[in-house]
Amino acid sequence: MGNVRFEAIKIAKERQPSNDQRLTTNDRVKDYFARDVFTRAKMKEYIAPEVLEQLFDDVDNGRTIHRDIAGSVAIGMRKWAMDRGATHYTHWFQPLTGGTAEKHDAFFTLNKDGQLMEDFSGDSLYQQEPDASSFPSGGIRNTFEARGYSAWDPSSPVFLIGDTLCIPTVFVAYTGEALDYKTPLIRSTASLCHAALEVCGYFDKTVKHVHANLGWEQEYFLVDEALYMARPDLMLTGRTLMGHDSAKNQQLEDHYFGSIPQRVLAFMRELEYEALCAGIPVRTRHNEVAPNQFEMAPIFEDVNLANDHNLLVMSIMERVAQKHHFRVLLHEKPYAGVNGSGKHCNWSLQTNTGVNLLAPGKNPYQNLQFVTFLVNVLMAVQRHNGLLKASIVSATNEHRLGGNEAPPAIISVFLGKQLTEVLDKLEHASADKGIIINAKKEMKLGVANIPEILLDNTDRNRTSPFAFTGNRFEFRAVGSSANCGGAMLALNAAVAEQLMLFKAEVDGRIEKGEPKERVLFDVIKKYIVACKAIRFDGNGYDDEWKTEAAKRGLDCETSVPLIIDRYLAPESVKMFQYTNVLSEAELHSRSEVKWGTYVKKIQIESRVLGDLVINHVLPAAKRYQTMLLQNVLAVKQVFSADETATLNAMDYSIIRQIEQHSGGLFAGVEAMTEARHKANRQPDERSKAIAYHDTVLPLMAEIRSHADALELIVDDELWTLPKYRELLFIH
Ligand code: ADP
Ligand code: MG
Repeated sequence: MGNVRFEAIKIAKERQPSNDQRLTTNDRVKDYFARDVFTRAKMKEYIAPEVLEQLFDDVDNGRTIHRDIAGSVAIGMRKWAMDRGATHYTHWFQPLTGGTAEKHDAFFTLNKDGQLMEDFSGDSLYQQEPDASSFPSGGIRNTFEARGYSAWDPSSPVFLIGDTLCIPTVFVAYTGEALDYKTPLIRSTASLCHAALEVCGYFDKTVKHVHANLGWEQEYFLVDEALYMARPDLMLTGRTLMGHDSAKNQQLEDHYFGSIPQRVLAFMRELEYEALCAGIPVRTRHNEVAPNQFEMAPIFEDVNLANDHNLLVMSIMERVAQKHHFRVLLHEKPYAGVNGSGKHCNWSLQTNTGVNLLAPGKNPYQNLQFVTFLVNVLMAVQRHNGLLKASIVSATNEHRLGGNEAPPAIISVFLGKQLTEVLDKLEHASADKGIIINAKKEMKLGVANIPEILLDNTDRNRTSPFAFTGNRFEFRAVGSSANCGGAMLALNAAVAEQLMLFKAEVDGRIEKGEPKERVLFDVIKKYIVACKAIRFDGNGYDDEWKTEAAKRGLDCETSVPLIIDRYLAPESVKMFQYTNVLSEAELHSRSEVKWGTYVKKIQIESRVLGDLVINHVLPAAKRYQTMLLQNVLAVKQVFSADETATLNAMDYSIIRQIEQHSGGLFAGVEAMTEARHKANRQPDERSKAIAYHDTVLPLMAEIRSHADALELIVDDELWTLPKYRELLFIH
């Protein structure tokens, strides 16, 4: 009987880079970028100018699209898609399960005489009714109304995947509650951009719009398909539930920015080609810290579009990887002992006049604006640090956070030395001396107050979960498999609320007759003092930091089910209501879904682990033990009692170790199964999640330690699960 592991290794080692025909042509990126997207330029070829003018105006000003407009747009859209061979269309949405969902319909219908006719109406573009009951709603549909519908998001362009026209949509209950990530993300961006515009008004009245930008960096692992297939845990849970450390992993730091293996490069080329055709401006690719770990990043875009692109890229990755006989692991922690994967979310605010509100400006006035936005973000992150943590936790990201190679489980902000100095100076500056308003009505702040801010971009701190990186904030705690919408909507809403509070405070004082510049300066100074707790430039992994953070009143909870509670904290509910991003009912439903998903993920993992132990590890261990026992007996028959004792010493030791670990495994699996049953009997999702966290997870860790110990002693020939050295180093 062959050992599946050795068969898989053989297949994996013999693989050659697969060349994609399309990539050997001399095509230039500009020739195929956004080839599969119905861009504004292409719309002009297919849709009447007056319709487009109305559409663009509505989209750009965040107004609802009229049904008549949708009807005219649909005709052009279908023609464009069919000209490119499309036969179907789908509403493409982002349910709370994560990932994306789609239901394809053909571009034809039967007329009343039963004849086939091509059809794609404004209504089909506008709205669809997927069978909402199979998506999680956290009880919303029970409470309100059973049906949900998906509705066109005209701010994100439609695109083709193969023969299907994909229409980005929101997914909401009939009563209007959001059942997805996109709806509240759009609401949060609207709220943020409005609040930011109001604050911009203090500095520059010509600004008409503010946009929020997102530039994500997607980390992932690749593993050969044959090895993947031989690991039921990877197949079913996306991570290895056991596996002893490889003798060599990342300690030599030779993978990061090393040369990209040929087979991987072939995959990346095709991935980039596909992404670029879909209009995703991917720009960066490199090896990551762990072996077989990589990263891709595009140029930043508007948050909503960037998030759609990230979700699209994740599905393109999976498809392209399979063509290259790889599997892409988007899980945050596929392997213990080496780095996990995140999705850094680079976030910034930009005006329609091209000013980045989070970049130091060219003059003191712009710098005051910059500092205003900066300290408001700090205040928002401080006030809602627990919620922001809740926005990034999950059963999968839990394994990554708090480890010594990923963001710590306490949210703090890194500013860097220079910016910290600027804030320190401002804190102690005197408004009377510092502020001079010159004749041109341009406010001049004394150099001592708002110095020219030249930021040294290299001042980086990799341990910070939320870092300022020169002209943007980088939210690094977001998980690699996450829909970044969850984190972005929380951040957008928190900052929106903060900017609104700031505006109210400043306006209140201006109305009482205080001069604007003085009030701005005063309030900013007050904030600089108030947001000190969240600012931390030191090593986030230090134990001292944990003590210090607790003293500062930052959220130090590490249990995911309890962190999820932050969504329902009074200050979160108030903030989400104030900004019109999520209602209390929606927050309840979201938390339910989060707890439910947490439970299901760990339940599956726990079952898979039980199966691996009983069907793979124990049989291999027992087989080896039997071999050793036979050897002991044979030695006894041949040698004298004295000699036997020496000759069998090693066998005895291993036999006993196998016995001990096998016993531990068996008992562990029984205890884990019992703990699971008990957890399942808990009355609600939250209590179930807590039980899984507190009782099932620790047993899984214990079981793993026995399995990993056995892996180290059992004959390699008998071990059926591909080992870390194979999973991490074959490509
Ligand atoms: P690093 O690894 O140094 O953080 P990368 O080049 O890998 O940098 O990724 C940086 C990401 O940040 C890219 O997606 C980039 O487009 C994005 N980015 C750069 N400037 C901004 C900005 N002002 N706002 C938002 N995202 C930005
Ligand atoms: Mg980065």
